[in-house]
Amino acid sequence: MEVIVVGGGIAGLTMALSLHQAGIAVRVYEAVRDLVPLGVGINLQPIAVRELTELGLAEELARSGRAIQQWSLFNKFGQLIWSEKRGLSAGYKWPQYAIHRGQLQSMLLRAVRKRIGEEHFRSGLRFTGFEQDRDRILARFSDSRSGTHVVDEADILIGADGIYSAVRRQLYPSERKPRFAQQVLWRAAVDAEPFLGGRTMAIAGHFHQRVIVYPMAPGASPGQLLTNWICQTSAPGLGPPREDWNRRVLKDKVLAAFGAWRFPWLDMPALIERAADIYEFPLVDRDPVPSWTFGRVTLIGDAAHPMQPIGSQAGSQAIVDARVLTAALLASSDPITALQRYDAERRPVMDDVTLRNRDLGPEAGMQLVEERAPNGFTRIEDVISQGELESIAKSFSAAAGLDPEIVNSGPSFVQPARIL
Ligand SMILES: Cc1cc2nc3c(=O)[nH]c(=O)nc-3n(C[C@H](O)[C@H](O)[C@H](O)COP(=O)(O)OP(=O)(O)OC[C@H]3O[C@@H](n4cnc5c(N)ncnc54)[C@H](O)[C@@H]3O)c2cc1C
Repeated sequence: MEVIVVGGGIAGLTMALSLHQAGIAVRVYEAVRDLVPLGVGINLQPIAVRELTELGLAEELARSGRAIQQWSLFNKFGQLIWSEKRGLSAGYKWPQYAIHRGQLQSMLLRAVRKRIGEEHFRSGLRFTGFEQDRDRILARFSDSRSGTHVVDEADILIGADGIYSAVRRQLYPSERKPRFAQQVLWRAAVDAEPFLGGRTMAIAGHFHQRVIVYPMAPGASPGQLLTNWICQTSAPGLGPPREDWNRRVLKDKVLAAFGAWRFPWLDMPALIERAADIYEFPLVDRDPVPSWTFGRVTLIGDAAHPMQPIGSQAGSQAIVDARVLTAALLASSDPITALQRYDAERRPVMDDVTLRNRDLGPEAGMQLVEERAPNGFTRIEDVISQGELESIAKSFSAAAGLDPEIVNSGPSFVQPARIL
C-alpha cells in the first residue's frame, strides 16, 4: 500500500512515522520549502507521549520538553479555584510535556527524514487537488518556487494540512472561513523565574479574559525557565484579525488589558514587559462536518477537527488520529474500509471535544466562579463545591479519552512491523 500525506505539521509528520513503523510506504508533501521552528508552547498529554514513546522518541522528547506535574485554575485575582496533578504525578505511566511547538515539529521532521528517506519528504510543494477512481488516487501539487506542477499517485491520500486545509476545501467547497469566537490570543515565550514549583500549568481569569502560563524548557540563564504565556481577551464586534501565526502585536496593547494582573505567585506585567515579540492569533475553530472520509481520502489533525486551544488538545489529538488511522489500515486489507473505520471511531469523539471547547472544556469551572463571585471569595467552597469542579474535569477527561486507567492499560494502537 502507498500513502500520500499532505502537510508536514505535527499530524502529518506523526502520520508518516506511524505508517513507516507499520511497514506502509509513505510520501509527505509540505507547502513550506524550509520549515523553521514556528509557534510558541504546546502541551502533549500522556496519551500522545505514549504514542511518541512507542515511535521511539521518548528520549528526545524528554530532552526538549518540560514535564508538567500540576494543572491549576485561578480566578482573575489569582485565587486558587482548582488544582489537579498531571502526568506521572497523576498516575500516568507517561509524562505530560510542555514543549516549544517548533522544536517538536523539528524533532519529528528529523525522524521522518531519517526513517522514510529525504526523497520521500517533499517540501515546497503545495497540494492543489485530487482525483480518485475505484483503484487509485491522484494528487496534484504546485512548486512554490518554480510554479511547475507535480502529480503523484497512491492508494490513499491523507489531508494533514491544518485549519485551512486545501484537501478539506475540495471535500467541502462551500465551507466558509473558520468560526471566530470574538476573542484574540496574545502569545509569547520569555525567560522567567519558576513559579508554583516550576512544573505548573496555570490558568487564571474567566471566559472573557484570562491568562495561561507554563514553563516549557530551561531558560538561557541558570535558574530561569523558558515560559510560555497566553493572554486571551474578548474582542467584541471585531472582525477576525488576519489568521497568521507570525502576526505581531504591540506590547502596549497587551499591557493595557493585562497590566494589572499581578498575583502573589505571578507577575503578568513583568512577563509581558520581557517579551521580545508577542504574537496575535484569533480564537477560531470550525463546525464539525458529517464525514472526514470520502473513498480514498481522509483528514487528520486540524484539517479534520480544528478546535479552540482549550485543554491542550489539538497537538495531542492529532497524534492519536495518526495512530488510530494506522491501526485501521493495518486491520483491513481494503483501504476504503479502513478509512471509514477510522472516521467512525475518531470523528464523534473529536466533534464532542470541539463543541465542549466552545464552553471552556475542562476550564468551565472558572466561568462559574466568575459568575457567582465576580469580586473574589474568602473560601472557594462557598462558591463552588470540589465535587462540581471534579465532575467538570472528569467529564472532559473521559470525553477526550484521557482517563489514566484507559491510557495506562489500553493496548497499543499499532503493533509495529519494524524495529525502529
Ligand atoms: C506555523 C504554526 C504555528 C503554530 N503555533 C502553535 C502554538 O504556538 N501553540 C499551539 O498550541 N498550536 C500552534 N499551532 C497549531 C498546532 O500545531 C496544531 O493545532 C496541532 O499541532 C495540529 O497540527 P496539524 O499538523 O494538524 O496542523 P498544523 O500544525 O497547522 O500543520 C499543517 C501543515 O500543513 C501545511 N500545509 C498547509 N496547506 C498545505 C497545502 N496546500 N499543501 C501542503 N502542505 C500544506 C502547513 O504548512 C503545515 O506545516 C501552530 C500551527 C502552525 C502552522
